[in-house]
Amino acid sequence: MTNKKIYDFIIVGGGIVGVSTALTLIKQNPSKKILLLEKEKSFAHHQTGHNSGVIHAGVYYEPGSLKAEFCREGLKETIAFCNTHGIPYEQCGKLLVATNDIELQRMDKLFDRCKANNIEAEILNQEKLHEIEPNVFGIGAILVKSTGIVDYTLITQKMSEQFESLGGEFLLNSKVTNLDENKEGIQVITSNETLSSKYLICCAGLMADRVAKLLNIKINFQIIPFRGEYFRLKEKHNSLVKHLIYPIPDPDLPFLGVHLTKMIDGTITVGPNAVLGFKREGYGMFNFSLRDTIQFLSFKGFYQVVKKNLKSGLYEIKNSIFKRGYLKEVQKYSPQIKLNDLVPYPAGIRAQAVLEDGTLVHDFLFAESERSIHVCNAPSPAATSAIPIGKYITEKASKAYKSLT
Ligand SMILES: Cc1cc2nc3c(=O)[nH]c(=O)nc-3n(C[C@H](O)[C@H](O)[C@H](O)COP(=O)(O)OP(=O)(O)OC[C@H]3O[C@@H](n4cnc5c(N)ncnc54)[C@H](O)[C@@H]3O)c2cc1C
Repeated sequence: MTNKKIYDFIIVGGGIVGVSTALTLIKQNPSKKILLLEKEKSFAHHQTGHNSGVIHAGVYYEPGSLKAEFCREGLKETIAFCNTHGIPYEQCGKLLVATNDIELQRMDKLFDRCKANNIEAEILNQEKLHEIEPNVFGIGAILVKSTGIVDYTLITQKMSEQFESLGGEFLLNSKVTNLDENKEGIQVITSNETLSSKYLICCAGLMADRVAKLLNIKINFQIIPFRGEYFRLKEKHNSLVKHLIYPIPDPDLPFLGVHLTKMIDGTITVGPNAVLGFKREGYGMFNFSLRDTIQFLSFKGFYQVVKKNLKSGLYEIKNSIFKRGYLKEVQKYSPQIKLNDLVPYPAGIRAQAVLEDGTLVHDFLFAESERSIHVCNAPSPAATSAIPIGKYITEKASKAYKSLT
C-alpha cells in the first residue's frame, strides 16, 4: 500500500450504529488504529437524529430473530449507558390499545408474542385502561412497563466522546466516494483524501446499498426510503397521556401505525406514518432527487412492494396530504385531539432494505467481503439495539481481522 497512514479499522457512518460499533471496537482493541468517517458536519444527522426516541422493549419481533434478541438486550444496555453517563431517560411504559373487536383478537396474539419474547406485559381491560389513561379510548390494552424514551442524538454524541477519549479518531465532513479492496487492505477514497485500512465496517444507513456496491459486493436488495411524518401536539396537551400510546398493528402492514409518543423534552409527537420518499436524505415534503427516484423506479422489487401494499400505500399518501385523515387515525384512541392541535414537526426517513421479490426485510441484514462488513438493514429498533449490534459487528470484524493479519 502506498499511503502513509494505515488504519486497522475504518468505520463508515456516524449514526448510532457506526458510533456504537466504533466504541466497542476500541474498547476491545485498545492498541489498534481506528478511524470513524461521517459525511455530515455532525453525528446522528440522519435516521438517528430523526426518530421517535423510544427505547423499545421488543414486543413485535419474530422470536429468535436478531431483532428480538438485540432489542431485549439493547433496552438494558441503553439504560445502563444512560445511567453511567447521566443521560436523561424515562421508563414511562407503553400501552398498545385495541379500539375494536378485531384489534382485541390481534391484541391476544401480540400478548402471546410478548410472552414468547420474554417481555413482561399485562393485559388491561377497558376500566383499568381508563383508570390509568383517562384521555385514551380503548376496549382493552397491553401494558409494557419497561418501554422508555431518550434522545438518541445525545447518546451518539456521548459515545463519540468516549471513542475519542480512548484514542479513536474521527473525521466529519468526510464522504466516502470510492472503495478499492485488494490483498493488503482497502483504499478508502473520501471527498478530501485517500486513506487505507486493513478492515472496513460500513454502517451507512440510507446509503448502505450504494456503499456496498462500491466494493462490488453482490447484494440482492435496494434501500427504498420511507418517510415517517410527524406532528407535535400543542403544548397545552403535554400532560394528555402518561404512557406511549400505540395502536394494535395490522399484521399485514409493514409499519406500526401512528402513535402518541412522549418525548424526553416533555412534548408529545403524533406519528410517524409511512410514505414513499423521493429523496433518501431529503426531509422536506417536496424534496426530490432524480438519482434516488430513478434508482427505485428501475428496481423490480419496488413494483412488487407497490403491488403488495397498494391499498395501504394509497391510504398513507392520502393521510399525508390531508391532515384530517391523519387526525382520524389518532382520534381512534384519542378523540379529544382536534385538527388545530397538530403542529408541524420534522419528518424522519427510514432506510428500508427491499429484496428483488418485493419483500421488505424486517430483520437486521449484513453483507461481507473478505475485508469488510456492511450493515445493510438496520430498521427500528436499531437505535435501541445499537449497543448489542455494535458488539455483534465487533466480534465479526475482530475475527476477520485476526484471520487476515
Ligand atoms: C421515523 C423513524 C422513527 C424511528 N423510531 C425509532 C425509535 O423510536 N426507536 C428505535 O430504536 N429506532 C427507531 N428508528 C430506527 C432508528 O432511528 C434507526 O434504525 C437507526 O438510527 C439507524 O442507525 P444507523 O447508524 O444505521 O443509520 P443513520 O443514523 O442513518 O446513520 C448512517 C450514517 O452514515 C452516514 N453515511 C452514509 N453514507 C456515507 C458515506 N458515503 N460516507 C460517510 N458517511 C456516510 C450518514 O451521513 C449517516 O450519518 C426510527 C427510524 C425512523 C426513520
